[in-house]
Amino acid sequence: MKRVDILVSGGGLVGLPLGLALAQGGFRVVVADAAPPAHVLAPQFDGRVSALAYASVRMLAALGVWDGLKAHAQPIREILVSDGQIGKPASPFSLHFDSSEVGADSLGHIAENRYIRAALHQAVAATPGLELLAPATVKTVAVEGGGANVTLADGTRIAATLVVAADGRESPLRASMGINTVGWSYPQTGIVATVEHERPHNGVAYEHFLPSGPFAILPMTGNRSSLVWTEAKTKAPGLLALDEAGFNEELSRRFGSHLGATRAAGPRWSYPLSFHIARDFVRPRFALAGDCAHGIHPIAGQGLNLGLKDAAALAEVLLDAARLGRDIGALDTLKRYERWRRFDSFTLAASTDALNRLFSNDIAPLRHLRDLGLGIVDSIGPARRFFMRHAGGDIGKLPKLMKGEAA
Ligand SMILES: Cc1cc2nc3c(=O)[nH]c(=O)nc-3n(C[C@H](O)[C@H](O)[C@H](O)COP(=O)(O)OP(=O)(O)OC[C@H]3O[C@@H](n4cnc5c(N)ncnc54)[C@H](O)[C@@H]3O)c2cc1C
Repeated sequence: MKRVDILVSGGGLVGLPLGLALAQGGFRVVVADAAPPAHVLAPQFDGRVSALAYASVRMLAALGVWDGLKAHAQPIREILVSDGQIGKPASPFSLHFDSSEVGADSLGHIAENRYIRAALHQAVAATPGLELLAPATVKTVAVEGGGANVTLADGTRIAATLVVAADGRESPLRASMGINTVGWSYPQTGIVATVEHERPHNGVAYEHFLPSGPFAILPMTGNRSSLVWTEAKTKAPGLLALDEAGFNEELSRRFGSHLGATRAAGPRWSYPLSFHIARDFVRPRFALAGDCAHGIHPIAGQGLNLGLKDAAALAEVLLDAARLGRDIGALDTLKRYERWRRFDSFTLAASTDALNRLFSNDIAPLRHLRDLGLGIVDSIGPARRFFMRHAGGDIGKLPKLMKGEAA
């Protein structure tokens, strides 16, 4: 039977950086992913972009991933937040974040998930001590004495000191280890599309709150932006089925004309939106990371940033334990990780949920209240700077990797 220090189940946008951080720290690591690499690396696999906070960018740089990604990443220079109604001009009360106000070059970067994945796969191939098994589905994990025995769908068995589940929202492993979640579905669908526009966006991201939910315009490289269009679940199928002219018309009613003529380019994707958080993040010889531990609304573009913070914190806790000669799979070691990450994840998950509830409606008194709120925050410099640090991921106890240091 193959023996490793750590087996990571799930080689997505969180599992792969975790594998890199652990192997670069000296552990023998296997990452098993159910999907074939050629499938997940194909452009049609995932149409999303990710807003990478600058703390996440520092982490990707420390792991040697950023060099393969930066040419495809668009810096976010400014963010404009406004409230509005379809086909009408935005409310005059808006919130403006400018990277120059916090002395930074950018507030983060927008990168297409397909390029993040490609850069991660490239870094994994160049990292000794790290093996990516794919396609390889983890079927069972049996915790026995001082280790965990993992069985893959093809019958392969691997013994590990610790197993980490980074296998996404529906994680079968999480349930098999008896970890429950609290959560709910949103009556909303996330429509994602790339939009080409006439004028340059100058690195400005827009979050426009419409009655059905947030309509985010995220600057991509070139004269392109990515839409994350939150629409009522009942209306989304009709919009997705429109012909090109109809879709472009609906798009421009919401997008506005600030970037000149616009048109959707390429396919449209849709994602069901839900919220969940695991009641526990760890069990003896077992830990959760990324969407497996928490799934949040994309309103603030923070799901992946949260997952990357899990990966950085877990790697740091495990490397500290190994340096002190402690058992990396022992519950008291893993509890340190849980204490670090669970409260932080819960706070962010709850605030994104509250933001979505406050903004996704057309109730007049609430609209006045939130317009007032946007205006107040905009007029107070320290409040604005607090939110910018928040968006940049620079709050709370940052793991070393997110400060750009080795774990
Ligand atoms: C519309 C939308 C927009 C978003 N925008 C942003 C954004 O701007 N910024 C941001 O930070 N976040 C954003 N997010 C959130 C972000 O995409 C997720 O948080 C992130 O992709 C989670 O990564 P993950 O690796 O934890 O899970 P996943 O991406 O779900 O990966 C799980 C992996 O596990 C594998 N797997 C599953 N089961 C098994 C098994 N049994 N054995 C082995 N492998 C298995 C799968 O093949 C997959 O590769 C957005 C989400 C949505 C829906």
